[in-house]
Amino acid sequence: MDYIKILNYAIDVILPPACPVCGQPKHYYNGRRIDICRSCQDDVSYVKEPMCLKCGKPVKSDEQEFCTDCSRHEHSYDQAAAVYEYSSAVKNSIYRFKYHNKREYADVYAKEMMKACGHMIKMWNPDAIIPVPVHSSRLRSRGYNQAQLIAVQLGRLSGIPVDDVSLLRVKKTAPMKELGNSERIKNLQNAFQVNGKVVIYSKVLIVDDIYTTGATFDACAKALKDAGVQRVYGISLCVGDGF
Ligand SMILES: [Zn+2]
Ligand SMILES: [Zn+2]
Repeated sequence: MDYIKILNYAIDVILPPACPVCGQPKHYYNGRRIDICRSCQDDVSYVKEPMCLKCGKPVKSDEQEFCTDCSRHEHSYDQAAAVYEYSSAVKNSIYRFKYHNKREYADVYAKEMMKACGHMIKMWNPDAIIPVPVHSSRLRSRGYNQAQLIAVQLGRLSGIPVDDVSLLRVKKTAPMKELGNSERIKNLQNAFQVNGKVVIYSKVLIVDDIYTTGATFDACAKALKDAGVQRVYGISLCVGDGF
């Protein structure tokens, strides 16, 4: 056993990594640590077919190509996908990740993204992964951007470069959960800006924790496309209306 392995083992003993759903230390199964407890697996539901061809939200039948939202509104982004459907277990997990400094969840979240959406990422073949940015004042008060943590892990697993400097949030926005659809769009108007470097990309994948109406992905996609990016795709951890 080399020193790095011993050190990692010691860290695991002192600070055991937790299941992001229940927050308890991870269990072992067949000598391997499992990321999400077997009992917690029942509390999360993965997005499955049939799903909206645009946003990736579950739809009721195979005949339905788009969800109600996407059949009514044009989106600025090209296509999106998500890992989990909304549930209170996922909501609580993301809440701890965002507000209770559970940064280590990003590791499992990114693995789940690769498992559930890896085929989409491969098909989209983006030049860069860009996390949905937070405003600098929020970054100062919270200490980290949750989307950036997931993006970094996703970049590590997929081998796609992560760019967390080219897209900026230049406007402080009201919390989206208190707003309706049109208010969300208004709230995000001119919220994002790019620096000149972005035109070097033709296809970009943006990453966020939650997708509700798509207003955030749209606002990011618009800023990126105005700067010359051709295609913008999005992946979120969870999709749903309950946030
Ligand atoms: Zn658990
Ligand atoms: Zn849709």
